[in-house]
Amino acid sequence: MRIVLLGPPGAGKGTQAKELAKRMNFPHISTGEILRQNVSKGSCLGKEANAFMLSGALVPDALVTKMLKERFSQADVKKGFILDGYPRNINQAEALDEMLKQADMGIDLVVYLDTSDAVIIQRLTGRLVCKACGGNFHSSNMPPKAKGICDNCGGSLYQREDDKEETIKKRIQVYKNEVATLIEYYRKCNKLHNLSADLDAGFVLEEIIQLAINDSPEV
Ligand code: ADP
Repeated sequence: MRIVLLGPPGAGKGTQAKELAKRMNFPHISTGEILRQNVSKGSCLGKEANAFMLSGALVPDALVTKMLKERFSQADVKKGFILDGYPRNINQAEALDEMLKQADMGIDLVVYLDTSDAVIIQRLTGRLVCKACGGNFHSSNMPPKAKGICDNCGGSLYQREDDKEETIKKRIQVYKNEVATLIEYYRKCNKLHNLSADLDAGFVLEEIIQLAINDSPEV
C-alpha cells in the first residue's frame, strides 16, 4: 500500500502518518523531517535548504526530489510507504509518478486533509516537537505528561523555527498557491479522497484506515 497525505501545514499529516506507519508497519517518509535532520547535522543539503525553510518557502524541487529518490532506494520502501510533505506542486507530483514508474510501482491512495485557517494557526503556534524522535505534541490540544519532555522517549520538546506566526502565514500562502492544481491532478486519476482534518485526530485516523482498507490492492 502506497499512501500520499496532502494538506496544509498543520493538517496533521505528520501525526496521522506516524500512527498509520505504526499500525500498518510501513515506513513514514516525511520530506520535512528528512530536511530538518539534514539541517541539524549540517549537511550540504541542510545548508542549502535552511534559508528556504526558515522563510516558509519551498525548498527547490530538484533538491527535494533528489533527496526523496535516495530515500526510495532503501529496501524498506518496497513493502509500501506513507508519504507526507511530498508532492507539494505539480512538478513534484510528476517526478513522483516517474520515480515510482521506474520501480514498477504506483500510488494507491491520496488523502487530502482539508483544514480551516483558524485550526491551522492554533495547531502550529502550539506545536511542540521532540528533538530526539520527532514525536508531535501540542501545548493545549495534546500536552506531554511532563512539561517539555517527550512521552515516548524522554527527549526534549522544542518549537520549530518555522512555527512562528509570521512564517506560518507565509507557509499557508505558499501552500494555497499550489494546492488547487495538485488536487486536480489526483482527482483526474481517481485516487483522491477528501477528509475534514479539523476533527479529532483519532477520528481522522480511523477514517484514513477505512479508506486504506477499501482501496487496498489485495481486496
Ligand atoms: P509543513 O507541511 O507543516 O509546512 P513540513 O515539515 O512538511 O511542514 O515542511 C517544512 C518545510 O520543509 C517547508 O516549509 C519547506 O520549506 C520544506 N519542505 C518540506 N517538504 C518539501 C517539498 N516536498 N518541497 C519543497 N520544500 C519542502
